[in-house]
Amino acid sequence: MLGSASRFAAALILWAVCAVPAPVLAQAQSSPDNLRVVTRVLPPMVVAHDGALSGFSIDLWNAIAERLALKTSYQVAPNVTDLFERIRTDQADVGISALSITAAREAEFDFSQPMFNSGLQIMVRGRDTEDVSNPLREILALLFSKTMLVWLGIALVLIMVPAHVVWFLELRHPPGIIPTRKYFPGIFFSMYWAASTLATQSEQMPRHWLARAVAVLWMFVGVVFVAFYTAQLTASLTAQKIQGSIVSPQDLHGKSVATTAGSTAAAALRELDADVVEVTRIEDAYEALTDYKVDAVVFDSPVLLYYAANDGKGRVHLVGAPFRKEDYGIVFKTDNPLQRRVNKELLALREDGTYQKLYDKWFGGK
Ligand code: GLU
Repeated sequence: MLGSASRFAAALILWAVCAVPAPVLAQAQSSPDNLRVVTRVLPPMVVAHDGALSGFSIDLWNAIAERLALKTSYQVAPNVTDLFERIRTDQADVGISALSITAAREAEFDFSQPMFNSGLQIMVRGRDTEDVSNPLREILALLFSKTMLVWLGIALVLIMVPAHVVWFLELRHPPGIIPTRKYFPGIFFSMYWAASTLATQSEQMPRHWLARAVAVLWMFVGVVFVAFYTAQLTASLTAQKIQGSIVSPQDLHGKSVATTAGSTAAAALRELDADVVEVTRIEDAYEALTDYKVDAVVFDSPVLLYYAANDGKGRVHLVGAPFRKEDYGIVFKTDNPLQRRVNKELLALREDGTYQKLYDKWFGGK
């Protein structure tokens, strides 16, 4: 006989086992009417909010599953390679997110009909093309640049010549501009005079006639010096601007560009000879861009457009049109009979207007 306490404990265990609410991201067992669907969080295709999944792809799948009278348990893969791996190794039955249909993937898996037109696009910092960088940052970068250091060095060496001549002549001229007979600090007065004459206009002029002649000559040198220096700085600023701007995929050559690991974007970037920074979550790529750790993000255009219009508004913008067209599909292991049934429902959802309704919901169409 079981005591009442142990009976209570047994009941409790039974209750715990049966009453575990099916969590949204549960790793459930496959059964004919319960499908394990693997996905990736990529707003607005797949959005994770408080542990629950939504987004265009999720809504679309739920509509398909409903028509097929199938239950779904979702799992989230850390990257797209892992997602395909789960399909390959039967850890999941179906994959849906922003999965680009490619020849290599098609050779190994089966895709549904294209469910969404997408493409790869470039995203950079700034509001629009004219305002790619921050002017304050540019000025600071220039102030602490090598060019600036070189010109300061040249100025310092140049100053020494008139400073010594004027110091020597003025020393012998009692009402001159050097108030002391000692080399230090006398030479500093003279250097200060030479520096201020070079940069702008000095307050005083030497008294000795020869020193005055040297001063006039020095003022001309100053004009030439400022002209050269301005030209050099302008040139290096322009060069920086030209080098810095990304207007087409070819400009990504040698640039550091963030994208997700294993994505079609990562493969395209390697072809373009970019320095690819692969991250797990697309949000990490956005952060790397806004934190000035990378020069651009290349990824699926619907995902980038959504970020640029929402969280990234005013901080990032997209460059040009998608440079490589791609279609998304729902992925199955080869010869899964489910593929045909899903294709049929996908078409039915397009025909009865559900697809358009979902599209408008997530992409703000009219
Ligand atoms: N469309 C991308 C691909 O299939 C998505 C990559 C990802 O999920 O990170 O490669």
